[in-house]
Amino acid sequence: MSEAQPLPEQADVVVIGGGIMGLSIAHALARAGQGSIVVLEKSYLVSGASGRNGGGVRAQWSNEDFIELMKDSIRICRDFAQEMRINVWFRQGGYLFLARSDAHAEQLARNVEMQRAHGLSTRLVDAREALRVAPILNGEGLIAGSYNADDGVVFPWPFVWGYANACSELGAGVHTFTEVLDLEVANGRVVSVETNRGRIRTGQVVLAAGAWSPEIAAMAGVALPNTPHRHEICASEPLKPFLEPLVAELESGLYFSQSMRGEIVGGVSNADVPEGLDQNSGLRFLGLYARAITRAAPRLGSLRILRQWAGCYDITPDGSPIVGAVDEVAGLELACGFMGHGFMMAPVFGPLFARHLLRDEEADLFARWNLRRFARGELANAGMILG
Ligand SMILES: Cc1cc2nc3c(=O)[nH]c(=O)nc-3n(C[C@H](O)[C@H](O)[C@H](O)COP(=O)(O)OP(=O)(O)OC[C@H]3O[C@@H](n4cnc5c(N)ncnc54)[C@H](O)[C@@H]3O)c2cc1C
Repeated sequence: MSEAQPLPEQADVVVIGGGIMGLSIAHALARAGQGSIVVLEKSYLVSGASGRNGGGVRAQWSNEDFIELMKDSIRICRDFAQEMRINVWFRQGGYLFLARSDAHAEQLARNVEMQRAHGLSTRLVDAREALRVAPILNGEGLIAGSYNADDGVVFPWPFVWGYANACSELGAGVHTFTEVLDLEVANGRVVSVETNRGRIRTGQVVLAAGAWSPEIAAMAGVALPNTPHRHEICASEPLKPFLEPLVAELESGLYFSQSMRGEIVGGVSNADVPEGLDQNSGLRFLGLYARAITRAAPRLGSLRILRQWAGCYDITPDGSPIVGAVDEVAGLELACGFMGHGFMMAPVFGPLFARHLLRDEEADLFARWNLRRFARGELANAGMILG
């Protein structure tokens, strides 16, 4: 797994992007014995959103596709450390969503009903019970919450490394510091991928470059509607364990959890972020976060922030991913547009994607989330987006 490995001249499948999505897909393809597979990553592993996220993993969603996918994903997360022989610091402390308005409380009630119908043990809680789950919270103005004890958090880096190691062991090449510069298309088919380290002939390209996907799709003449938006996050000094769940507020987009190392890791919505591939941090975010977390849990007002960083959300117009075939370019497959929840989706999505490629037929989910939905006006609204 390096830039030192020679780049092959030909591959059956080239995956662009060495984030969690590209690696999970490559791993599933390699496990299925899908010929020669190459992953191209322009920088180091965990340089993209997969190394910059909050590690939140939840099945509490407001649409059936996401709930079902995430039920499986949580199961995979639970077994990941043992299977991949790497500690991913998975901790199932639950997710506690909070509503401070009637409209949001009603939304939570509808979600809970749907989630329970899909076998989740999510509970609608009142303010008193929410405080029992997270005593640090300010109960004032709290109308309702929803709590699912099975949701959790992971440490993203070893998760990515676990997939990359497993890919290498299965014979899939993971090439870091290998930047895709162009996609060659002839007679409506992908025929090769040009990189800063040479050209690879291939008939199958999987574009899993997160927020960079639109600029790479454009190399093949394909316009994607996703846009990159910076999302900031920070971690505090480590504290003794006191917070079980990841707490998320629907009104402010505030979320925070306590990592296994004791840090409070969190972020908040920031409506003023312009579109762009910007991974820098700003002071404005700290002000917004400090105000929101102090309102939600006043005792955290004295929390010392040790580190702040940022990554890019890969935003789609309806909040759902863009996956599967591109009708105009045979051999080009998309796996992007995962917004602020691609990390949790990757463990289940990789194997689904491998089955999709192997079967060579479009499963329902891949039809609903295909790029062509935008031209047809058939949007697949996701709901419950954080941050
Ligand atoms: C602050 C923050 C908090 C988040 N919190 C959560 C959370 O709690 N839970 C959750 O599930 N999700 C969360 N997300 C979202 C999640 O991180 C992403 O959805 C997920 O990591 C996307 O994975 P990816 O592999 O698609 O993209 P990335 O991880 O961005 O990987 C894409 C890769 O493509 C590479 N690349 C780009 N251009 C090229 C090129 N030309 N050639 C070769 N390689 C290229 C990039 O270097 C990058 O490594 C958060 C995101 C951010 C920014």
